[in-house]
Amino acid sequence: GIAKFDVEEIELGEVPETRTNIMLNMANPSAAARWWRLPADGVGLARMEFVVSNAIKVHPLALTRFHLLNDDTARAEIEELTKGYDNKPDYFVDKLAMGLSRIAAVQFPKPMIVRMSDFKTNEYADLLGGRQFEPDEENPMIGFRGASRYYSDAYRDGFALECRAIKKLREEMGFTNTIVMIPFCRSPEEADKVLEVMADNGLVRGENGLQVYVMCEIPSNVILAEEFAKRFDGFSIGSNDLTQLTLGVDRDSELLTHLFRERDPAVQWMIETVIERAHKAGAKVGLCGQAPSNDPEFARLLVERGIDSISVTPDSFMAVKAHVAKAEKG
Ligand code: PEP
Ligand code: MG
Repeated sequence: GIAKFDVEEIELGEVPETRTNIMLNMANPSAAARWWRLPADGVGLARMEFVVSNAIKVHPLALTRFHLLNDDTARAEIEELTKGYDNKPDYFVDKLAMGLSRIAAVQFPKPMIVRMSDFKTNEYADLLGGRQFEPDEENPMIGFRGASRYYSDAYRDGFALECRAIKKLREEMGFTNTIVMIPFCRSPEEADKVLEVMADNGLVRGENGLQVYVMCEIPSNVILAEEFAKRFDGFSIGSNDLTQLTLGVDRDSELLTHLFRERDPAVQWMIETVIERAHKAGAKVGLCGQAPSNDPEFARLLVERGIDSISVTPDSFMAVKAHVAKAEKG
């Protein structure tokens, strides 16, 4: 099972050393500081969408296109939330930067990898004022999500606010440990477009020490690993989506849970192959999916394949650290 513990009771003297970096997955900024004592190597995945739903609650386009918003209840709530801000979009930027800073502070100056928003359209629609700005999709999981949104006319104003928040966090607030990560990037062409939009918004990869990572969670990320490696500083394997898309198994289907297996040889081939190809191309590879958090022994498979870092939920950190130390000894 997974070792649960009270964070105040950790015996830090008993934490083994590992060559593999063990990092933390974080979502809710209000709960982040609880984990400050964990001797982690940074935050490997800060899911921006959780900061938006916990600390902002408003759809970004309901702020940038407030004049078009036709839902009176949402309008009134947004007026209330944004009181004190000269411009409504500033509310989004300010709250996002503040929320992320609470996560960045927990492991500062060790890195925090912030993944740009990865809500599905049905989830975006549930944000305040969101319904009007989102399409109805049959399959949101493989729909208008991740990188594809960021350069599109339908969302680029929203992405610009995300970029402004990252700039504020790094340049005004001093959280220079912030690394940006792009989720669900379907092709190298999409990567180019996203990096261009980021640069238009003042986030230039390589400038002011800004590193940009890409999630490896679509088979195309493995198949064209060299092409992605040219465009990014590193990969983080999203084993949840990579398993879903490699095996064709809906990750949310209860009828198919027995088929959703990260240990399946096809998924293992994906993981092994991206590590090997990315390393040849000089890019780092981590994994931030749920597999080692649910099953700490899974970490052994990753260590044996030479992974650089593993990011896990805080309550499984100690168990994963122990398994990695054991695996590294052989
Ligand atoms: C993943 O796909 O493994 C991942 C970490 O992203 P999410 O679970 O948020 O889709
Ligand atoms: Mg994913």
